[in-house]
Amino acid sequence: MLSQKISYTEVAEAKRMFEACRNVVIVSHISADGDAIGSSLGLYEYLKKKGKQVTVIVPNYFPDFLKWMTDADKIIQYDRRRAMAKTYITAADLIVVLDLNEPTRLEELAIPITRSKAKKIMIDHHLHPQKFCDLTISYPDASSTSELVFRLIDAIGGMSNLTKAGAEDLYAGMCTDTGKFTYGSNDPDLYIILSELLRKGIDKDKINRLIYNNYTEARFRLLGYILSEKLQVFPDLHATLFTLTRDELNRFSYVKGDTEGVVNMPLEIKGTKLSIYMREDMEHPRIFVSLRSVDDFPANKVAAEFFNGGGHLNAAGGQLQNISMDEAVEIAKKALEAYEEKLKD
Ligand code: 5GP
Ligand code: MN
Repeated sequence: MLSQKISYTEVAEAKRMFEACRNVVIVSHISADGDAIGSSLGLYEYLKKKGKQVTVIVPNYFPDFLKWMTDADKIIQYDRRRAMAKTYITAADLIVVLDLNEPTRLEELAIPITRSKAKKIMIDHHLHPQKFCDLTISYPDASSTSELVFRLIDAIGGMSNLTKAGAEDLYAGMCTDTGKFTYGSNDPDLYIILSELLRKGIDKDKINRLIYNNYTEARFRLLGYILSEKLQVFPDLHATLFTLTRDELNRFSYVKGDTEGVVNMPLEIKGTKLSIYMREDMEHPRIFVSLRSVDDFPANKVAAEFFNGGGHLNAAGGQLQNISMDEAVEIAKKALEAYEEKLKD
């Protein structure tokens, strides 16, 4: 039996809102990842089966390796189809905000969403949720938002309305947010959920292939270049750093999403506690920073203190505006210095 995680009052309130609504808009964060798209389409499947009119809107591009999901082609990208997205938002009587804790994570899509008079539910697992929804279902210790969507549907008594496609979506979200169940994945309940999803008839081995064995040749070669030419290892600090400039990205015909997940790889070097990846943005003068750590090393604190960001304990990120890569590397080195004691430990 799955233990109770989402409170009874939250479940009852969500159930009431799901019954009362007719037109639903589901939104998730900028540069949506597997959990954002998986939880959105999973909930979409459930609500559609209940006879609701449902539309999923994301702020911008999401990676190709998620496009196998049923109806992924129906997802509206706000930066491309603003007018159409606004029509759906205006018609909505319920908006569900998934996998994000504050409106800024929606970028420009935040404006029509926060202005809308529709009832709003947030379902999320990031720390410090901002209260801008009528109902906030926030459990930062959950593995993924997809897990929470499963738990909610289950607690409502709605499992018969979770389709096989919905089960595939939620599996994909849980799988990607836990690195194929290798971190943040010690809750025994996850394997009860997994078992229920498999009972829906999903082919998890195939889904893993669709998500992970999906490199283009260019992306695969870029990976080789990073590992052989770019990776800096600081053995005493149990830390690693790699950077990619616009020129380097162009050399490997970079398209968005091509380095997704690569920041996790240096953690495979024995003893590594922290991996930092810095990538120059292709459009704006800024550098994106990704951090991954293990155990209790706080990647989110480093992100907040040095990279204008935040995130989870072991997966965090941020940005540096208007600086060169050399300057960014200096900042990363300062961060390593500041955390020297904890890293050396
Ligand atoms: P990624 O490295 O995959 O881009 O981001 C990992 C996690 O770090 C995200 O799930 C998110 O929680 C957090 N994150 C990434 N970029 C930012 C940022 O600019 N600001 C904040 N507050 N968190 C971020
Ligand atoms: Mn997530």
